[in-house]
Amino acid sequence: MAHRDPYEEAKKQLRQTVDLLGLGDDIYVMLAVPERIIQVKIPVKMDDGSVKVFIGWRSQHNSALGPYKGGVRYHPDVTMNEVIALSMWMTWKNSLAGLPYGGGKGGVRVDPHMLSKSELERLSRAYFEAISDIVGVDQDIPAPDVYTDPQVMTWFFDQYSRVKRGQYFGVVTGKPLDLGGLYTRIISTGYGTAITAREAAKKVFGGVEGRTVAVQGYGNAGYYAAKFLHEMGAKVVAVSDSRGGIYSSKGLDPDDVKAVKNKTGSVIYYEKGVEKKIGIDEILELDVDILIPAAIENVITEENADRIKAKIIAEAANGPTTPEAEDILTRKGIVVIPDILANSGGVIVSHIEWANNRIGGLITEEEAKQRLENKMITNFARVWDYWNKKLDTSKHNMRTAAYAIAVERVVNAMKLRGWI
Ligand code: GLU
Repeated sequence: MAHRDPYEEAKKQLRQTVDLLGLGDDIYVMLAVPERIIQVKIPVKMDDGSVKVFIGWRSQHNSALGPYKGGVRYHPDVTMNEVIALSMWMTWKNSLAGLPYGGGKGGVRVDPHMLSKSELERLSRAYFEAISDIVGVDQDIPAPDVYTDPQVMTWFFDQYSRVKRGQYFGVVTGKPLDLGGLYTRIISTGYGTAITAREAAKKVFGGVEGRTVAVQGYGNAGYYAAKFLHEMGAKVVAVSDSRGGIYSSKGLDPDDVKAVKNKTGSVIYYEKGVEKKIGIDEILELDVDILIPAAIENVITEENADRIKAKIIAEAANGPTTPEAEDILTRKGIVVIPDILANSGGVIVSHIEWANNRIGGLITEEEAKQRLENKMITNFARVWDYWNKKLDTSKHNMRTAAYAIAVERVVNAMKLRGWI
């Protein structure tokens, strides 16, 4: 990721969409520049008595449709421009999903694996306190992202509630079940990705049953995508994490693999049925039907795009395919289900959690799961139809269709509000 600037890429995608829709330069500029970015210094007292200074950001890209919404990532390589790009992608994702939210994203440059639990708690509380004036139940609602989880959300919510002297459950989503969270939120990103992959497989192969799947990244999104595709009858033949990957032509059991990863720290220690170990780049080039990149940005590039054999790519990660790579994939006729559709299950259930917090916890898990399923199926069909009916599929891809729908809704909201 380090050698590319995701913000430049996000702007390129926006430019193409603005041109496709015949919108003017003023609209491009309105949408290219985020409404607000703050950078905060986060000094943390370490367990050994020393003080370390970390840097964090929150980017609030666009609020035409409602309060900013999007996760916070902890990653040693995160940059301000990456956070801005991710916040812009959240604007499109929330718009496409039909949610009453604008787009935001936060990031802290830290490797959380190097901190003790109490250091991580102090960091999380300090970061959230530092941004507490710009977040809020009706202002900006953070959530988990790379290397943040329900425990981190609890520290955020608790610190905010201390500072603001209240009980503001709706200020973050992705909370634990005993604190206003939903189990459906935990499975939502991966489950949503699995549903979009299944819907695409129906179009491309006539069904997902028996189709082979490779999953790159085995965090929350990757694991649940693998688990649900396995339950839908697909065969998960390869998975990987930051340490490496494993391959089994007979198929892996995603739950067993997860249990081993939880115990040992990596999927590479899983042995049952494994025929060979594979590299973290190799997994992308396997001869499989469905590929799920579920780690970070820019893993499918112009260097490896030509060697990709999957017929369907479902982007569980944000921004895993570079625009140059996508041109190659489009020419090869590979269907890429874009991140803003494929991984929108997370924020769709965040919205249900947030709404549930506000009405005092009346929504059941069954209702939440059903709503997620319905929305993923409807949203997939809407993008697929736009792509096939309104665009030239040999030149344009699904992302173009998803962006067109998303940008149009935001532009319409800005017009109605008199911003443009
Ligand atoms: N971080 C997730 C994303 O990129 C979820 C955001 C949310 O639930 O607000 O979509």
